[in-house]
Amino acid sequence: MNGLMMDQPLLISSLLTHAERHHGEQQIVSRRVEGDVHRYTYRDMGQRVRRLANALAARGIEQGERVATLAWNGYRHMELYYAVSGSGAVLHTLNPRLHPDQVVWIADHAEDEILFFDLTFLPLIEAIASRVSTIKAFVVMTDRAHMPASSKVPNLLCYEDLIDDHTPDFEWPVFDEKAASSLCYTSGTTGNPKGALYSHRSTMLHTYAAALPDALNCSAKDVILPVVPMFHVNAWGLPYIACMVGAKLVFPGPWLDGKSLHDLFEAEGVTVSAGVPTVWQGLLAHVESNDLHFSTMRRTIIGGSACPPAMMRAFQERYDVQVLHAWGMTELSPVGTVCTLKPCHQTLSAAERLAIQSKQGRSVFGIDMKIVGEDGAELPHDGKTAGELMVRGAWVISNYFKGEGAGPLVNGWFPTGDVSTIDADGFMQITDRSKDVIKSGGEWIGSIDLENIAMAHPAVEMAACIAARHPKWDERPLLIVVKKSGQELTRDELIKFYDGRIAKWWTPDDVVFVDRIPLGATGKVQKNLLRDAHGDHLMANSGSRFA
Ligand code: AMP
Repeated sequence: MNGLMMDQPLLISSLLTHAERHHGEQQIVSRRVEGDVHRYTYRDMGQRVRRLANALAARGIEQGERVATLAWNGYRHMELYYAVSGSGAVLHTLNPRLHPDQVVWIADHAEDEILFFDLTFLPLIEAIASRVSTIKAFVVMTDRAHMPASSKVPNLLCYEDLIDDHTPDFEWPVFDEKAASSLCYTSGTTGNPKGALYSHRSTMLHTYAAALPDALNCSAKDVILPVVPMFHVNAWGLPYIACMVGAKLVFPGPWLDGKSLHDLFEAEGVTVSAGVPTVWQGLLAHVESNDLHFSTMRRTIIGGSACPPAMMRAFQERYDVQVLHAWGMTELSPVGTVCTLKPCHQTLSAAERLAIQSKQGRSVFGIDMKIVGEDGAELPHDGKTAGELMVRGAWVISNYFKGEGAGPLVNGWFPTGDVSTIDADGFMQITDRSKDVIKSGGEWIGSIDLENIAMAHPAVEMAACIAARHPKWDERPLLIVVKKSGQELTRDELIKFYDGRIAKWWTPDDVVFVDRIPLGATGKVQKNLLRDAHGDHLMANSGSRFA
C-alpha cells in the first residue's frame, strides 16, 4: 500500500521558488569583476533567473545539454546555477585555474553547447575558443558598457543583453528527479579528469543534509560568504543551502586576499564562511599583522585539505571563530563528514577538544563509511587502525560521466583513495591520500600528522611531507617547508621540534626549505611535483638518522 502523500520530485528549481516566495527580501551581495559591489534580493534574482531560462530556451538549449561556466563567485554565476539546472539542462562548472589544454579537453569531453564567462577570463577564452569543438556561443557575464572587443572569439554575446531580450514569465518544468543537474570534473593529478554527474535528487538530498545543525549549520539568521569557488564542487553546496534556508549570501568575486575578505566580512556582517586552509592563512596573516578582529564571524568551515590544528587554535582561541573541519570530494558533491562535537566531548579540556576537531569528523546522515585493509576486509573503528576509506550514499557517484574509469565501485562502495582511521564515536581522521602514504620499512607513516606538527612551529608558513626514496627503508619522510617572511629556522631546530610530539621513527629525516610549495587548481599541495623535485633527496644526502 502506498502512502497518500503528494508525489513531488526533488528538483533544484524548488529551492529558488522557495527563496523567492518565503525569503524574497533577503539580500545577495556580490563584489563584481567590474569593480563595484552589486546588491539585490532573492526576489530580484528569481525574475532574472526566469529571463535567463527563457534566453537559454531561445538559443535551443535542451534538457540534458551541457552549459558551461568559467566564473568566480557572484550573482550572475548563481543565476546560471538555477536557470540551467532548473530548465533541465546540465550546469558544467569549468575550473579556470586549470591549464588551457585541460579546459579544452574537459569542455570537449563534456560536449558543452555554450560557455558563460567572467570578463577576467577573456584571455583564457581567446586561447581556447578556436580549439573547442562543440561550443557554439561564448557569453560574457557583463553588461553592454563593459563588453570587450575581441576578434579572436566568434559568437561573443553579452549576458545582460541576453536577459533583457526576455520576459520573466517561465514555468519551471517538472521532470524525473534522477535527471542530471550539474557536472564537475575531478582535478585528476594522474590520468585525464573524470566527470561526476550529479542529479537533482542527489543535490537536493545533499542540500538538506549539509544544512543541518551538526553539519554546516546554516539558517535564515546567517550571512554566508563562500570563499570556496562555485567552480569547485558547487562551492560545497552553499548556493543551494542558502536558498533552502533563506540566508543572506555574500560573494567575494575574484578578491580572495586577506584584506579584501576581511573588509567584506565586516562590511556585510558575515557570520559563516567556507574555504580551503591556504585561503585562511592569508586572512589570518592580514588580521594578525593589522591587529584586527572579527565582529560578526562565528564559524568557518575548513576542508579540501587537512586543517592544521595551529590554524584552528588561532581562529578559536584568538578570534573566537569556531572552526568546523569537513571532508568531502567531487565524487560526493561534496560533503561526507563534518567535525561537530558530541555531548560526551563537552567536558573535555580545550586541548582534548582540539584533538577531536583535528579529525575530519563524523558522517552526515546519508553517507555511510567504513575502512578496509589491503585484502578488502573491514577494519575496526578504534581510532588507531588505518585503512582505505570507502563510502556509499545517495550523493556518491555510481559511475563517472561516459563510463570513464570503468566501474569505480567495489561491492557497492566507492573507494575514496584516502587512508583514514575511524574512532569508536564515529569520527574519521584522514592520515593521507593512499598515493601519498610514506611506506618506511613496511610500516605506514601518515604525512598529515607530520605536516600539522611543522605548521605549529611559529616560523613555518607552510609545510608538506613527502615520501623520499631511501636505500635502507624504501621510503622515509622528507619535509618541504616555506618559512614565514623574516623568520629564521634551521633544519635541526625543526627536527628537534618533533621530539615528544610523535613516535621517534616517524620524525622526518630531513628538511628542504623552499620559496613556495606548488598548489593545484583546487588549492591542494601538488605532492607529485614535490616528489619529482625532491624524491631522491635522501639518496643524494647521507640519509636517515635511523640507517
Ligand atoms: P576534490 O575532489 O578535489 O574535492 O578532492 C577530494 C580530496 O581532498 C579528498 O579525497 C581528500 O584527499 C582531500 N580532502 C578533502 N577534505 C579534506 C580534509 N578536511 N582533510 C584532508 N584531506 C581532505
